[in-house]
Formats: sequence, C-alpha cells, structure tokens
Amino acid sequence: PAVSDPLVADLVPRILAGERRALARAITLVESGRADHRAQAAALLEALAGAGRQALRIGLSGTPGVGKSTFIEAFGLMLTGQGLKVAVLAVDPSSARSGGSILGDKTRMERLSRDPMAFIRPSPSQAQLGGVARRTREAVALCEAAGFDVVLIETVGVGQSETLVAEMTDLFILLMAPAGGDELQGVKRGIMEMADMILVNKADGDLKPAAMRTVSDYAGALRLLRKRSQDPEGFPKALPVSALEEQGLKSAWDEMSTLAAWRREHGHFDRRRAAQARHWFESEVREGLLARLHRDPVIRAKMDALGAAVARGEAAPAAAAAEMLAALGA
Ligand code: GDP
Repeated sequence: PAVSDPLVADLVPRILAGERRALARAITLVESGRADHRAQAAALLEALAGAGRQALRIGLSGTPGVGKSTFIEAFGLMLTGQGLKVAVLAVDPSSARSGGSILGDKTRMERLSRDPMAFIRPSPSQAQLGGVARRTREAVALCEAAGFDVVLIETVGVGQSETLVAEMTDLFILLMAPAGGDELQGVKRGIMEMADMILVNKADGDLKPAAMRTVSDYAGALRLLRKRSQDPEGFPKALPVSALEEQGLKSAWDEMSTLAAWRREHGHFDRRRAAQARHWFESEVREGLLARLHRDPVIRAKMDALGAAVARGEAAPAAAAAEMLAALGA
C-alpha cells in the first residue's frame, strides 16, 4: 500500500534494509505521545508488518546487581558470534522516578554496543507503565522489521514490569543470584510461574557451590510449581551461568532454542503470539477510550462530579459508574 506521509515513506525501506539510524529514529517516533507522531507511528508499523519478519523475543528479569548487563553483553556477543543479529531493549518504569540506573545503558555493555550486529536502546525516561508497554511492543516490532534475529528485553525485578515483559515475549527468563542456605530469595510465586527458565548467575569462583545448590533448589521448585502443556518434558529448567567468565551461556541458548523450537512445532508459539497480539489490541482500545474520557471536557466534568459524590458517600461506586456509562451511551 502507498504511504503518503514523507517521514514514514522514508523510514520504511531504510528499516527493512536494517539501517540502524532509521531504526533509532523510528523508536524515537513510537516513544512520542504527540497525536501526529502517534498517527505516523501507526502508519509506519502497518507498512512494516507486511514484511512478516519474526525475531525470537526473550524477556530477561532480575534484581539490580544480579548481573543483567554483564549477562546481556556476554550472551549478546555469543549470539552475534554465531552470526545472529541482536537487539536489546529495556523496560524500566522506575527510572524516571528514582533516577536510578538506566537499563540498557550502553556504557554498561560497551563491547556489545560497538558490535555492528547488535543494537542497544536504553529505556526512555517515561514513568507511566502503559506508555512504556506500548513503546516497547512497538520497538520490538520495529526491530523485527529491521531483521534482528533475537530481541532481548531487559527489566528490573520489580512488580508489574515483569508481567508486562512476560506478556510481550516468547521466552521469559529470570536471572537469579546464588542464595545462601536454602532460602529461595523470596521470589514471588507468580513470577516463578511466569518463568520459562531460571538462570543462576555468578556460578564461578567461591560462589560456585552456592550457585549449584541454588540451581537445584529452583529446579525442584519449578517442578513442583507447574507442568504446563506448552513445555516439553524436563522444562522449565534452572541452569547455572557465569556472565563474568562466559560459562554456561551456550548451554542456556541451546535450551532456549530447544524450548522455542518445541513450542513452534506444537503450535504453542503462534498461539502465545496470537493471544499477545489480541491483548495488545485490547489495551490500545482501552487506553484510547480512557484518553478520550480525559480529553472531553463535558465527560470530564461529569466524571469529576460523580467521583466527588462517591467520595462524599452520597453515591455508591457501582451506581455512579452505571450512571456514567449510561451518559456515555454504553
Ligand atoms: P545488573 O544490575 O543486574 O545489570 O548487574 P551488573 O551486570 O551491573 O553486575 C553487578 C555486579 O555483579 C558487577 O560487579 C559484576 O561484575 C558482577 N557480576 C556480574 N556477573 C557476574 C558473574 O557471572 N560472576 C561474578 N562473580 N560476578 C558477576
């Protein structure tokens, strides 16, 4: 289909050719909340979708200090060494608030950032989770169109961001530190349930025995936790790695590839993607509706009035909501 917008018309062939500057420019476009930019972003994504390119989307979560950037750099270099093109994105809803470490920071992955087969995009300083989700999903689609084979999405192990990343990836990996004794580091059950694989990092030097114990603890916990139909026998696995000494990375990749291939073969891969696409569509509609509620002054005034009445105890929440929806014609 013909593209009328000059910026979109310029970006499409350049992204399809894998031009990194065009990709970076396009990601900046999808990060913008301006209405005209949103329209351009939608046209761009629509034009690129036709290419039908697909990367393996891998989510990686872990608490600060567990070794995410060290791992991503070593793992990324191992993949580019195999001839694969690797993109790294980050979901960090906390960065704007805390001013803390920026995920996907190029200075933390210096060798990978200089690799012509790799593309690293730091997290934008945008605090709102919904906006981060959309931006990241769209950035993933852009990286796929640009011909990347693997898209790694890094996130900190805090609250909702993990769910968000798990919902937009094919494989969700938890990176853990070696634990002392038999503590399971207070990992929330829900997060364990989302994990397709647990990698226990720092399995080197003095930490190696603790790391190996931690691996078997998690392996046991994962076995108890679930047997999902979308996993072959023996999955989900817990494995030791050392990002620092570049040990176990190849095995981890082999296991990820085995799992992804099995899921493709059994239809789980496409089903998960289809469900994710549907979820994406629905949340776009939901956010669009909410944005409209907030923009329209008449609706806004009614929302405020009803909200105040509920707060004063003069109206029940359910009844007030019904009145609001009736006013909207719903
Ligand atoms: P992030 O905050 O999760 O990105 O963690 P970093 O990658 O910045 O690593 C935090 C610290 O752990 C750094 O001092 C790293 O050198 C160290 N580290 C990372 N990976 C390993 C590893 O495999 N073994 C050891 N011993 N230390 C590691």
